Amino acid sequence: MATLHPLPALAGRDLQVPLAAGGTRRYVNLDLAASAPAMEAVAAAVNDALPWYSSVHRGAGFASQTSTRLYEAARSAVHRFVNAGDDDVVIFVRNTTDALNTLANALRPSDGACVLTTAVEHHANLLPWRRVAPVLHVAPPPTPRQLLDDIDAALRAHDVAVVAITGASNVTGEVFPIAEVGELAHRHGACFVVDAAQLAPHRAVDMQRDGIDCLAISGHKMYAPFGAGALVAPRALLENAEPLLAGGGAVDFVTLDDVLWTHLPDRHEAGSPNVLGAVALGAACTELQRCGMDAVAEHERDLLRHLDERLRRIPQVTVHRLWHDGGVDRLGVCTFTVAGMHHALVAAALSAEHAIGVRHGCFCAHPYITHLLGITPKQAAEVRSELQRGEHAHVPGAVRASFGIGTTRDDVDALCDALTELTTTGPRLDYVQDHATGDFLPTTDTRSFPRFDALPDLDAQPGPSGCGSF
Ligand code: PMP
Repeated sequence: MATLHPLPALAGRDLQVPLAAGGTRRYVNLDLAASAPAMEAVAAAVNDALPWYSSVHRGAGFASQTSTRLYEAARSAVHRFVNAGDDDVVIFVRNTTDALNTLANALRPSDGACVLTTAVEHHANLLPWRRVAPVLHVAPPPTPRQLLDDIDAALRAHDVAVVAITGASNVTGEVFPIAEVGELAHRHGACFVVDAAQLAPHRAVDMQRDGIDCLAISGHKMYAPFGAGALVAPRALLENAEPLLAGGGAVDFVTLDDVLWTHLPDRHEAGSPNVLGAVALGAACTELQRCGMDAVAEHERDLLRHLDERLRRIPQVTVHRLWHDGGVDRLGVCTFTVAGMHHALVAAALSAEHAIGVRHGCFCAHPYITHLLGITPKQAAEVRSELQRGEHAHVPGAVRASFGIGTTRDDVDALCDALTELTTTGPRLDYVQDHATGDFLPTTDTRSFPRFDALPDLDAQPGPSGCGSF
């Protein structure tokens, strides 16, 4: 019988944060779909590796050789975690965005062949493809069956070189039928690419079982926030491709008018690599595998059932979803709007009054959010011109609560209790909206940021405030 391992613990699980009206409370982090805290085991692995950190690959010293081994062991951990094939290579990159840009640049479909994707993708799986090929978008499908039918129809009607879809939506959490999409793609001779930024930390990813040719992941969503992600792809696709990044480490020989690009994986890893980021990602893969992705999924499904049930009892809250069929698997990602309250105000009050961290806005998936919220083309055009004038006050959006292995029922209850209060008695504090960012700020706020000895204190340095992103 397999030994059961407990779910890995996360750093910062007892973090206390200030409330605007005074006092502190345990931080309820419901923003893991954006970036997840580090696993304690990941932080420990990075700490263990630190004394050995040195140049990799060409360094002759013992620490360099050890660093190189660590880096390559991390590559092997990622390879194993996604069950890549023998002919696949893991390229370390910064994140999913970097992975998909690197891949799009390498694939460059020829002679007018298209890339087929969906309108529900994160921008990272929409924009890179536009640079290299005509892109076809399957409309947000009302059912998974419709998604497959639409993809099939598009594959029959067009010359499609690449099918690129998300493994799970970062907006609504729905898990996509990737094995079926992969089968369709292959039937029509297309390369099958999966954006697994959301899927990989929460469900078992199996490239061989699901026929995934190319896969992109981000360490910071996998409890390894040390700046590394990975692209996993067949060697044959990448070995002769011109790399996106040009520079040292990616070459065998350079003259003043010629370059001989080197072999994989270095060819697509120009510049000094993020060894510790790779170690962190490799350690996260190992830990997730050790505790078992089934246990992770079960924990998250249980919390989601509880959240769904509690949110149903708050009439002012509308949960936005693509597929309402109870049989569809969903990650711990729940996007909702609150009747009569701006999404930014809900998020601000949850933070300032309840120590709950969520995200609000459009989650880098503008076409999908526009669809879910029923924004008309005319309204979208108005928002666009307001944004061009620097006015962020009326940007449409929603609130997203997202969770993972460190989340508890208490966290879900804290959110639902806070929403119940917000929708019955309203916010406790007064807020004003900053039109340049769209954010709401309490008119009285006693909070101050913690100080970090190694860094300058920003309060002492007047500078421009950030600009809210849509
Ligand atoms: N795809 C999906 C589905 C995502 O959720 C994200 C991050 N929100 C990305 C791609 C981009 O990931 P990163 O910012 O790490 O490049």
